Parts: sequence; structure tokens; C-alpha cells
Amino acid sequence: MDFAFDARTEELRAKLLAFMDEYVYPAEAVAEEQRAQLASPWDTPAVVEELKAEARRQGLWNLFLPNTEYGAGLTNLQYAPLAEITGRSPQLAPTALNCAAPDTGNMEVLSQFGDEQQKKQWLEPLLAGEIRSAFAMTEPEVASSDATNITTYIERDADEYVVTGRKWYISGAMNPDCKIFIVMGKTDPDGEDIRRQQSMILVPRDTPGVTVKRAMQVFGYEDHYHGGHAEVIFDHARVPAANLIGEEGGGFAIAQARLGPGRIHHCMRLIGMAERAIELMCRRAVSRTAFGKALAQQGVVHNWIADARVQVEQLRLLVLKTAWLMDTVGNRGAHTEIQSIKIATPRAVVDIIDRAIQLHGAGGLSQDFPLAELYAGARTLMIADGPDEVHQRSLARRELKRYA
Ligand SMILES: Cc1cc2nc3c(=O)[nH]c(=O)nc-3n(C[C@H](O)[C@H](O)[C@H](O)COP(=O)(O)OP(=O)(O)OC[C@H]3O[C@@H](n4cnc5c(N)ncnc54)[C@H](O)[C@@H]3O)c2cc1C
Repeated sequence: MDFAFDARTEELRAKLLAFMDEYVYPAEAVAEEQRAQLASPWDTPAVVEELKAEARRQGLWNLFLPNTEYGAGLTNLQYAPLAEITGRSPQLAPTALNCAAPDTGNMEVLSQFGDEQQKKQWLEPLLAGEIRSAFAMTEPEVASSDATNITTYIERDADEYVVTGRKWYISGAMNPDCKIFIVMGKTDPDGEDIRRQQSMILVPRDTPGVTVKRAMQVFGYEDHYHGGHAEVIFDHARVPAANLIGEEGGGFAIAQARLGPGRIHHCMRLIGMAERAIELMCRRAVSRTAFGKALAQQGVVHNWIADARVQVEQLRLLVLKTAWLMDTVGNRGAHTEIQSIKIATPRAVVDIIDRAIQLHGAGGLSQDFPLAELYAGARTLMIADGPDEVHQRSLARRELKRYA
């Protein structure tokens, strides 16, 4: 087994690490200052556009997309260590490289399932980083971890579809640059096959009947960098029938295809977040003294740091194995591993960031260190993209099947 990265990955890693040092980390404070001056907190700070231009100039652009026609053509195994690096600055780096969720998943859907017109109208400007997008599935009224519960109705009316429903936690939708929603709803709510009732449809933000109502909070914060997580109302929003993605009844299958790569990207970025937390923990431990000695000399701090290092190394290996399986046997063949990393990674990373916060005392909870924000981001991933319990249920069932 060869654990080394290949030449292309090494080359991109070196370039990306230099980009992070030279441009991204220094931009973190600048972005904060600029955001405070913006007319709306949902507008994009100018420094973000500068980062995007520089990343594109350096060829650090659309690295997530395995499709060679539209993206960098990297395998999951090649992209995984790069996504990890961007996770060290999750507010800025993924956006700078045009590799931020939910646009990445939406671009994958459009490149795989969109027709020529849909690609031209929506995929091309997304690939160019000119617009943003959102994915609207979750509904406040129903347990949305079970997608068969979705009630949004997509009703055919001559050469149009009429979309009616209420969604929430729709990431990115507060950003005025978010011009397009991929909406999951039911075209055939009474259909016999509960996995063929759903369809996905493109709904432009400016469609009459679409209201971006409010920003939902996460632990009391609004997630400005990721365009927030909005409640969105679709009240008889009419779109051309040509806006349907794929065929009627294909929504469930598209959702499944969308989530595999999305989950591994989140996990790799989480590992980057954990690395940042470990670095902060070590720097703080050697520079702070309590009761006559550096925090770094306390046995308990040794345990925290050692445990964190072990956890990260284990997770990285599992995530890279999953990436390799996705490349070699496909997303279906890597199903169990995708679920394993989705369960294991946020949990462990929350734990690591939590200890880093503890080591920083009150500072760890403050806005002067990125730890509180990293914690909130990592914790949400035990729910977003499907709660842990749903993955545990399906993984355990698969395991039990071998003995039934
Ligand atoms: C920050 C953030 C961003 C998000 N972004 C988006 C987005 O862009 N687009 C979008 O459509 N959605 C988004 N979501 C929503 C997210 O995908 C849903 O919250 C998630 O799928 C769970 O659905 P639910 O909230 O309706 O929880 P429910 O389905 O009501 O589940 C509640 C709890 O029930 C338990 N549970 C459920 N099923 C089982 C089971 N089988 N066994 C045991 N326990 C179970 C779990 O503990 C679960 O947490 C986001 C959420 C967050 C927090």
C-alpha cells in the first residue's frame, strides 16, 4: 500500500499551501473589517472577490469537479488532501477556490443530470464563480432526514410547473448572489413507489412567488460567510417545464448521487478544521503560563494534544480510503465507508475543537479566535446532510444483513 500523494496532488498541495499563507490567512481579518462596513451583512466582502481572482489565476479553481470538461478532473483521492487544506479557513478558502458547498453539489448535479440549456444558463456562471446557488430540500413541518416526507408540491400546468412549499435551513440563500435554487419536491405525491414521487427543479430566485423570508441561526449566529441558512417560501412559483432536472420521479436518485461527494468534501474540510484547532492548541499551550508553568507542561494538555493527533490521523486514513473506493468501485460501492466517515468525522472534530476551546479559556469562546466558529460549523455536520442516527441505522442494517 502506497500512502504517498501522486505528483499532481503534491504540486497542487504546494501551490495551495502557499496560497493559504500568502492570501487566505491574511484576508481573514480584512474580510471581517470589510463586512462590518457593508450595507448588508449578506453582501460579499471585496477581499473575497480578490481571492477568487487570484485562485483562478493560479489554476486553483473548480478542483472539486472530477469532470474534465467542466472541472479540474481530479479524482476524489487527489482532491481530498486539497479540500483538507481549505478546511483550515472554512469561511474563505472553499469560496476562494469555487469549491464551496452547496454550489459544488449543485454544479455536480447540473453537470451530470442537466440538459444543454440548463448547463448554459446555470452551470456555466456557477463554474465561473459569477453567481451562487442553493439546494432546497428540508422543510420545517416534516422530519426531513427522511426525504420521502417532503411535502413541497411541483404541479404540472401545461408547459409550466408550479412549485408550492416551505423550506428552511437553505444554505447560501441569504446571499444576494445566490440566483438559483435546486428545489426538491413531489411531482407525484400519491405514486406507489415512495422513492419515485420526488423530482428536482430549477427555480430562479427572482421568480414571482419566491420569498427568502429570514436567516435561520446556528447557536444564535448567522452564518454570513456561507450566505446564511434561509427560510424560503415557494408560493405557486411558476417556472418553465424545461426547468425540471432529469425526469419526473428522478429526484430521489439525484439526491443520493449528490450526497456522496458532498459528504467526503465536508469530512476533508473538517479534518483541516481539526488541524487548525490542534495548531492553535499547541501555540497557546507553549505561550501561556498558569500556576508557575506553561500550559504545555501540564499532563492533561499532553493527553488532549496526543488524543487529537491520533484521532486526526485515524480519520484521515479512513477518509482517504473512502475517496479511493469512490474512485475505484464508485459511490455505491463506497456506501458503508461514506457513512462511516460521515458519522466519525464531525464527532471527533467537535471533540478536538472543544478541547482547544477549553485550553484557550474565555478566549476560546470569543470572537478573537476562530475556535467558536469552527465548533459551530463542525457541530452542525452531525445533523446537516443527514443526522448521524440515520447513517448509523443504515450502516448497522447493512452489517446485520450478513447474519440474518
Ligand atoms: C447548518 C445547516 C445547514 C443546512 N443546509 C441545508 C441546505 O442547504 N439544504 C437543505 O435542504 N437542508 C439543509 N439543512 C437541513 C438538514 O439537512 C436537516 O436538518 C437534516 O437532514 C435533518 O432533518 P430535520 O432537521 O428535519 O430533522 P428530523 O428529520 O426531524 O430528525 C430529528 C432527529 O431525529 C433523529 N432521527 C431521525 N431519524 C432517525 C432514525 N432513523 N433513527 C434514529 N434517530 C433518528 C435524529 O437524532 C435527528 O437529528 C441544513 C441544516 C443545518 C443545521
